[in-house]
Amino acid sequence: MPAFDLPALYAHYLAAHGQVSTDSRQPQPGTLFFALNGPSFRGADFAPQAVAKGAQLAVVDDAALAAQDAAHYFFAPDPLGALQALAAHHRQQFGGPVLAISGSNGKTTTKELLTAVLAKRFRVLATLGNFNNHIGVPLTLLRLRLDEHDFAVVEMGANHRGEIAAYCQWARPTHGLLTNIGKAHLEGFGGAEGVALGKGELFDFLRDTGGLAFVNTLDAQVVARAAAVPQRRTYPGPADDFPATLLAADPALALRLGPQGPDVAVQLTGDYNFPNLAAAAAVGQFFGVPPEAVAAALAAYNPQNNRSQLLRTARGNELVLDAYNANPSSMAAALRSFAQRPAAAGQRKLVILGDMFELGSEAAAEHRALGELLAGLALTEIVLVGPLLAAARPALGPEARHFATKADAAAWLAAAPLSGRQVLVKGSRGMALETLVELL
Ligand code: ATP
Ligand code: MG
Repeated sequence: MPAFDLPALYAHYLAAHGQVSTDSRQPQPGTLFFALNGPSFRGADFAPQAVAKGAQLAVVDDAALAAQDAAHYFFAPDPLGALQALAAHHRQQFGGPVLAISGSNGKTTTKELLTAVLAKRFRVLATLGNFNNHIGVPLTLLRLRLDEHDFAVVEMGANHRGEIAAYCQWARPTHGLLTNIGKAHLEGFGGAEGVALGKGELFDFLRDTGGLAFVNTLDAQVVARAAAVPQRRTYPGPADDFPATLLAADPALALRLGPQGPDVAVQLTGDYNFPNLAAAAAVGQFFGVPPEAVAAALAAYNPQNNRSQLLRTARGNELVLDAYNANPSSMAAALRSFAQRPAAAGQRKLVILGDMFELGSEAAAEHRALGELLAGLALTEIVLVGPLLAAARPALGPEARHFATKADAAAWLAAAPLSGRQVLVKGSRGMALETLVELL
């Protein structure tokens, strides 16, 4: 016997015109509300509030409540599992391509670029923002409208083995792309080997289901994980299916698509964005978006999300604002790229770095290694923020300052305003270093 009545729940979803909610604080006009349990609360306690705000039906694990008022409450012993099963069922009704994007770094950037490219030819449903986890993936699938969309792009994030495999069971991607395999979420994956196996689950799914993998040949681990997928298309090397060439990296990137162009100047900085752009172009070309339209979509993309943003401040500093997130591989990529940026005569280069989280037992070693990396780069000033970065300090000379807290760093910046510098700002999300920008 099924744990709950999936066909009945799907009928309710259709009756709610696919409007799904999990947050009882939001207005709920006609929604199907899922009363998800949290670490310290029972979702069912919030269901009456959602119903009072207009939810058509609340999915609850409270059998008594559902028996009392079947018009407003629907019983499922595990509302989260019900959300995921409903999403998987709904996805099965969709006949268009479903492209999954995973990888250690650059998923959201690549997803945004790819969506812009594909939108030139298709009606695309894509993950909103960073809704890429065990709740975000089902919510994304449930936003799919069979009469409105003909293409779906689904970002999948993971910090444990088995997650991507589960997401693939719901999303059943027909196509997949791994941006890269690097050092992110080492803690949950249990080290670098675990990351490769975990991210590789997307390619395993494509291998087993006849799906197609887009393969970044600049990343040896991605290539290795793709070897078992019979259907694959490679980018961006000269001998690959979809070649692309980096023409310039500063101040923003320019690239050539295909052997003969078109050439395109984009609004992203950081040479690590080259494979992200090339991926979007490769997928677009594969799906028949004309090269000029691919180029136009990439050129028009302007990041507004603290990811690789170029800013000029009132004090005359040039900022590379990359404060959205950081891990050892994205930190190294951003620093190398920043160190290579040409500087005007006398222009100083300052990096303001925050702690990298979720590294588990590797945290001390990775922050120490970051100090060694920094010591080898030509940077005039280094500001380290957060307790973990104390481990980077010993490798560095007087050009480096360490502040245990962001408040200390802010006080220092406020006391001695800086100008005429190129500044890279980067740290983990929990550090939220973008709040320092107003002091620059
Ligand atoms: P999340 O795990 O938070 O979903 P994500 O994989 O979606 O992250 P983005 O949000 O696109 O990644 O980018 C986060 C940061 O990662 C960027 O600001 C940039 O510093 C870095 N980054 C982006 N692309 C790459 C890449 N190809 N290689 C290394 N670092 C990258
Ligand atoms: Mg993301």
